[in-house]
Amino acid sequence: MRLILLGPPGAGKGTQAQILVQTYGIPQLSTGDMLRAAIAAKTPMGLEAKAIVDRGDLVSDAIVSGIISDRMDEPDCANGFILDGFPRTIAQADALTHMLDRKGLHLDAVIEIKAGADILVERIINRARESGGARADDNEEVLRKRLGVYEEQTAPLVKYYTERGLLKSVDGMQPIEEVTAAIRQALQ
Ligand code: AMP
Repeated sequence: MRLILLGPPGAGKGTQAQILVQTYGIPQLSTGDMLRAAIAAKTPMGLEAKAIVDRGDLVSDAIVSGIISDRMDEPDCANGFILDGFPRTIAQADALTHMLDRKGLHLDAVIEIKAGADILVERIINRARESGGARADDNEEVLRKRLGVYEEQTAPLVKYYTERGLLKSVDGMQPIEEVTAAIRQALQ
């Protein structure tokens, strides 16, 4: 099973990805987690990405496409994976299409988790409070920036994947278990 989870920051992609990991026994590939790990380890890529991630902008398409392509070649991805936070632009979606073609793989579905801006702001502020400020980009100002970037650069992927017959949308405003049930149904 090869899936993309699409949705604005705070929609619940990470939470649902972790549940899908258990259900299907395939890994979650989160570009946000990979970038945060590179930043923490102060690798050259991390040093380049830090200021961009901290202000809520997007890291270059080439960087994230490269790390995702390498990650897909690892043995634990042999039976599939859940993409969380990638692709985020049309250029990344095109890069992914070519990458999968080259590797002889195909996508099974793109799950869009829909949620309104108000609930997203509330959820992210709570996440920041609960994590004790672990993420420099989880504050209201940067969040509003990330929501704007989503609307502008990532939302067009809904049309992109609808046209390719892959998009399935679920309502992300429901309780976690109900979102999970809706995703499970969409994948049947
Ligand atoms: P996330 O954890 O998915 O919310 O990502 C946190 C931050 O990492 C984003 O606000 C971006 O700065 C960066 N990032 C994550 N994934 C991507 C991507 N696919 N393309 C560009 N930047 C990304």
